[in-house]
Amino acid sequence: MIQLRTLAVVIAVFAVASCGREGPPRPDFPPAPVEDNAPEPAEPASPEEPEPSEDETPPPPSPVEEEIEEEPAPPTPPPPALYELPSDWHGVPGSLLPGSSTVKESTGVTDPSVIAPEMIFPMQEAPAFANSQIFGQGGGGYASGQWPGPGGSENDPRNFDYPWRDNFCEVRLDAKHATDLCPGGKAHKGQDLRPKTCENAVHWLVAPESGWISHVGSISVNIIGAESGMKYKFLHVQMPVPDWVRTGAPVTQGQAFARVSDLLSASSRATTVHTHFEIHGAADVDGALHNGALPPYTSLVESYLDLVDADPSAAEPVAQPSQDKCLTPQLP
Ligand SMILES: [Zn+2]
Repeated sequence: MIQLRTLAVVIAVFAVASCGREGPPRPDFPPAPVEDNAPEPAEPASPEEPEPSEDETPPPPSPVEEEIEEEPAPPTPPPPALYELPSDWHGVPGSLLPGSSTVKESTGVTDPSVIAPEMIFPMQEAPAFANSQIFGQGGGGYASGQWPGPGGSENDPRNFDYPWRDNFCEVRLDAKHATDLCPGGKAHKGQDLRPKTCENAVHWLVAPESGWISHVGSISVNIIGAESGMKYKFLHVQMPVPDWVRTGAPVTQGQAFARVSDLLSASSRATTVHTHFEIHGAADVDGALHNGALPPYTSLVESYLDLVDADPSAAEPVAQPSQDKCLTPQLP
C-alpha cells in the first residue's frame, strides 16, 4: 500500500514538472472540459426593452404615441360647391353698354314686361350669354370708328361670362333697322346671344315654341309659335340646316333645328359665333301697342332662368378654346 502511494506521488511530481517544459503539447492531452455549471456571462441589458419591474410604475407612453392618439381625424372634405347664378347675373332692360346706342345715350327699352312668356330659351345648353357682338371683346364697333369697339379677341372670357346686357336699340343707321321703339328711329332690333363657347357650328338652337318654320334664308330661320303667334327670327345660323328644316315644316318646342355660326352672309364668316335673335309680333311696350320687332331681352332672361332651374351648375361659364377657333368680327 505504501509502495502504491509512493508511485502515485512520483507520477504526480513528474506530471507537474513536465508542464513547465518547452515543446509541443501532447496531442493525447485534452483541454479541461468547461464545467456545465459555470456562470454564463451576463447579457447586456437591452436599451429598447427594459426589464419590467412589478414594483415600479410603468413608463408613460412616448410623446409620439400621445400625438398619434390625440390627433383629430382629418375633416371630411366638403362636397363640391354647385354653381349658382350670381344675383347680378343680368343687367336691367334698356341698360346698353356705354357708347353703344344710336344716339350715344346707351338707353334702350326699359319696360320690364315679358312679351313672349310662352317661349323657352332658344339655345339648347347653358351657359349662354346675351351681350353685344360689335361692342364686346373682339368687336370692331360701328361706322368706321364713330362708335369704336374695344378690340381684343372674340374668345376673351369676358364675352362668355355674366352679367348679361341688353343690346336691343344698339346703334344701327341703315333703313332696314328702322324701329319706333328706340331713340333715333333706327337701331339693332334684336338681342345677340353667344353660346357656351365660341366654337363654330357646334351649339344647337332650339324652337322657342311649338309651331312651324315660316322661312329658311341664306343664313336665317324663322319660326312662328302656334300658341302666341309670335315670329322668332334667328340670324347667323350654320348652313346647311338639317333636311327637315323647310318652310312650312312643323316644329316642336325644344326641337334642335340649326347650329350657331359665325356666318355674316352665305359666303362670309366675318361675324362672331353668335345668334341674332328677334321676336316679332304685336304687344304693349312702354304703354303703347307696337307691331314689329319687339324687345326680347326680358323674355330671354325669364326663359334662361327656366333652363337653368333644373341644374343651376350648368350655367357656370367654361374655358374658351384657343384663338384660332374664333374669328375677329368685321362689319362690312
Ligand atoms: Zn345682332
